[in-house]
Parts: sequence; C-alpha cells; structure tokens
Amino acid sequence: MTTAALIVAAGSGSRAGGRFDLPKQYASVGGRPMLAASLNTFCDHPEISCVAAVINPDHEPQYGASIPSPGSAKLMNPVAGGATRQASVLAGLRALAPRKPQYVLVHDAARPFVMPETISAVIAALSAAPGAIAAVPLADTLKRAQADGCIAGTVDRAGLWRAQTPQGFHFEALLQAHESAAAQGLHDFTDDAIVAEWAGLAVALVTDSVSNSKITTAEDLAMAQQRLAPQFEPRTGTGFDVHRFTTGDHVWLCGVKLPHTHKLDGHSDADVGLHALTDAILGALGDGDIGQHFPPTDEQWRGAASHLFLRDAARRVTERGGRITNVDVTLLCEAPKVGPHRDAMRAEIAAILGIQMDRVGVKATTTEGLGFTGRREGIAAMASATLLLQL
Ligand code: MG
Repeated sequence: MTTAALIVAAGSGSRAGGRFDLPKQYASVGGRPMLAASLNTFCDHPEISCVAAVINPDHEPQYGASIPSPGSAKLMNPVAGGATRQASVLAGLRALAPRKPQYVLVHDAARPFVMPETISAVIAALSAAPGAIAAVPLADTLKRAQADGCIAGTVDRAGLWRAQTPQGFHFEALLQAHESAAAQGLHDFTDDAIVAEWAGLAVALVTDSVSNSKITTAEDLAMAQQRLAPQFEPRTGTGFDVHRFTTGDHVWLCGVKLPHTHKLDGHSDADVGLHALTDAILGALGDGDIGQHFPPTDEQWRGAASHLFLRDAARRVTERGGRITNVDVTLLCEAPKVGPHRDAMRAEIAAILGIQMDRVGVKATTTEGLGFTGRREGIAAMASATLLLQL
C-alpha cells in the first residue's frame, strides 16, 4: 500500500483580504512558516510514503524555510502550481503519477493542526470507498440572510458537514477525474471532493476535529500563533557573597568604581554585588554557581572584571530560551555610601544583562554597627533574580 500526500500551498492568500504580508501558508506560526507544520506531520506519518507540496515558484525561498530539518527522504521537490486550486492539484497529481501511488491525500497548507489520527482515519476509509474526506458535522444553527442583513430563514442543518482536508482518493480515480474536468473546461472546483463527486465517485465523510479548521482570517492566524506560542515558567534564584577589605583606595560595587579608604580583596575585581547577582541567576537556572564556572584557582580570572561573570550568566539564560524578568541586589556595608551611585549601578547592571533599568533594583543597608560589616571588615551582598524559562 503506497499513499502519497499532496500539500496545496500555491495560493496567494488573497482570500484573506490581503491582510497578510505573505501568503498565509508562509505566515509565521510557532516560529516557522505555517506550511512547515503540514509538511512535518505528513512526512512523519508512517502510512505516508511520499510528500509533495504544490507552490507558487515565486515563493521558493519561503518554501525552503518550511521544509523539515533534518530533511525527510519522503519529501519530493516542490511542484509549480497553476492559476486555480484545481489546476494546482492537477499539476501535483501529474508529478506524483510516475510513482504510481495507490492512494493520494490532498491537504491544504492552511490547516497546520491536522492530526496524525485524522490522516490514518482517512486512509482507512479508502478501503471501502474511492474517496474519503476529513469533515466536521455542523454544530451551529444555520441562518440564511436576506439583502437587508436580516434573517430570511433557518436552514435545516441535519446531514450538513463542513469539508476539511486531508481529502483522500484512489490515486488513478482522482487523476482521471481531474484530467476530465480540465479537458471539459471546468476550472473552479474548490476542493477535490467536488471533482470526485462530479466524476460520480463515492466519497465517505470521516469525522475530524474542529481544531483542523482552515486559517483564513487574521483572527484565525492570531489564534493559531497563540496556540503554538512557547510556554514559560517563572524561576527565582538567590545569591550571597562577602569580600573582606584590604589595603587600597577604591572598591568595585555593582560594576561601578568608587573611591574608598580600602579595596575589597579577591581573585577577580571582588565586585561583591555582581558576584551575588551572578549566583542568583545561576541559581534560578539550576546551573551551579560562579565558583564552578569561574574557579578562583584559574589564573585567567585573576583581576577579571566581574561583568564577564554576569554576562556569562545572562548568556546561559538566553541559551535556554529564557529571559530575565527582574533582578534585585542589596549591599550590606557601613561605607562607602551607595545611595548617590544607585542609579549608575542599576544602569550598569541593566546594560550588562541587556534589560531595561526599571527591571533592576539596587539597595544598601548598614547593619547598625553589628557584625563584620558593622566593624567595617568587609562588604556583603545579597541578590535575587527572577527569570522566565521556556518549558
Ligand atoms: Mg565573590
């Protein structure tokens, strides 16, 4: 049993009223062109032996961005479409003919949510009928409108279905039906079931999900994008660091150099605020600590500027598909005075992390003369970081 899939993607998208910059089958959904979803689903399906897309040759670059990665051996070269949907399908069928598939499933590229189960069900129905299409029984009450926009009457919905895709057929039967219709000058059939009906073929209805409905309007597209949007979870981490004073004339605090009666002792520039903050971000990531990534035994970090450590932590967030929501640092010391430099520190941290300054808090407190910070033996820093990480 060989079943080919034909993905129809040659449309201009003009039926959507020109509201998309690109034809809608190439609009970005979940970070990839919409067409990519259908190509993936059909290439991955175990009962599908080959897949071809019918495209407008002007859109080859967009098509190139839609093909599965890594590539699929099932995927054929794209087929150039025609002036109408019907002509595009015929071109695709002719391209498939040398492979002599037993069945063919024709699918609209604008239905990115087709489920593998639907594909299987349509193929299964072809053992009992020359045609079978995915369809949904109508649930809404149907009204016929009159010219003034008022209701002229209610249409009995009993027995009415909405046709979706994939639409499956015995390959030779559908090819012949299409060739006959084209030969008789009929060009405007809007789906393949109509072509089959016109040729007198029985077509079975296979119940499908409404989630496989066609992306037609800008609203549909927005809903599809929302459905495939990445999901994030908040993560919080904390950090704490202490450095002792030693002989010197300045300290580095939160990326800012302040004149002082002493300097802070440490392997790097001893920026206690940036160290605590780096650990807070690493903690939120569950990715070790600053000492693990930048060992104090490693000579290359001697005297290093601590923004290197913080920038590396931010890079790890980006690598995980995350972003930093906000960070907060508290410095514990009797001196130097932090208040006058608070905004410079916030700006420095914001620049290192690549976030807005209103997402950065810097605060300071004395410890009322108590403990080692009170005795001016050193400076301590606490920090917290909140991230949003992709699930
Ligand atoms: Mg430190």
